[in-house]
Amino acid sequence: VRDARPTAATGPGRTADGHRVPLLANIGGPRDLAVALEHGAEGVGLYRTEFLFLDREEPPSLDEQEAAYREVLEAFPGGPVVVRVLDAGADKPLAFLPPTGAEPNPALGERGIRLFRTYPDILATQLKALARAARGTTACLQVMAPMIATPDEAEWFAAMAREAGLPSAGIMIEIPAAALRAADLAPCADFFSVGTNDLSQYTFAADRQLSPLTAYHTPWHPALLDLIALTTAPGLPTGICGEAAADPAMACVLTGLGATSLSMTPTALPWTRTALSLHTLPQCQAAAQAARRSPTPESARQSALTHLPAIP
Ligand code: PEP
Ligand code: MG
Repeated sequence: VRDARPTAATGPGRTADGHRVPLLANIGGPRDLAVALEHGAEGVGLYRTEFLFLDREEPPSLDEQEAAYREVLEAFPGGPVVVRVLDAGADKPLAFLPPTGAEPNPALGERGIRLFRTYPDILATQLKALARAARGTTACLQVMAPMIATPDEAEWFAAMAREAGLPSAGIMIEIPAAALRAADLAPCADFFSVGTNDLSQYTFAADRQLSPLTAYHTPWHPALLDLIALTTAPGLPTGICGEAAADPAMACVLTGLGATSLSMTPTALPWTRTALSLHTLPQCQAAAQAARRSPTPESARQSALTHLPAIP
């Protein structure tokens, strides 16, 4: 008979001294559920809903959206499921949601929440489908908005979510202005979720799609770590959902910076779980401080590793 007790490779995420850090999956839709469950995801930290909307002339109907969202919610009874509302524009253009004018720099254009201010009905329908999908399921549905830069945008999104009857509305922190002024945004949101992919794109003014610029996109840049520290400072629950969380040493650093959950590509979950289970919260905090004191990504990683002895 196999021992069914949870091990570091399968149980809930926690540090060696018992500090809980839920380990969640980034998914693009129901087709990713099997791999998320297989790798022990405790829930979903980022459901990128735009895949449901791509390559279509019209948005999916209320019923079609409800069915897709319900399938995900039902896979995680009692667990958190964080759904990001449509992040259209820039690298994810949609035929039925054109920006108001020509955009020479689409990454700096009308994308994410900005596009919803132009097309509020699309957001209202999506939130309604989510509220309907959650009925009768036990998952803890949380919705969040991409590309929030100001308290005004955060308040508008929270009001839309409330109107749809959704109990928890958060915002993504992926624009430096939002991280710098996280304290002003905290009263307008139930939680933060840091999108490290876009946060590094906008911090370094380096297009995330251009391969000659990949050196800017390592999460070990101390400038990025400083912005994450500013985001956790107000004390709102703060998840990390960009690719940064998939690096086990970085997952420890993010925990040390105050992240309250980590979401990643599902195949990265087991090693991250193990790395956390082998280090205490004070070790993670010391690693985070050492990384932030360093001037370069290389030295940040090296100095963090001196506090994380179990990382090879
Ligand atoms: C991010 O920007 O880090 C993020 C998680 O969102 P996406 O990669 O979908 O823009
Ligand atoms: Mg993003």
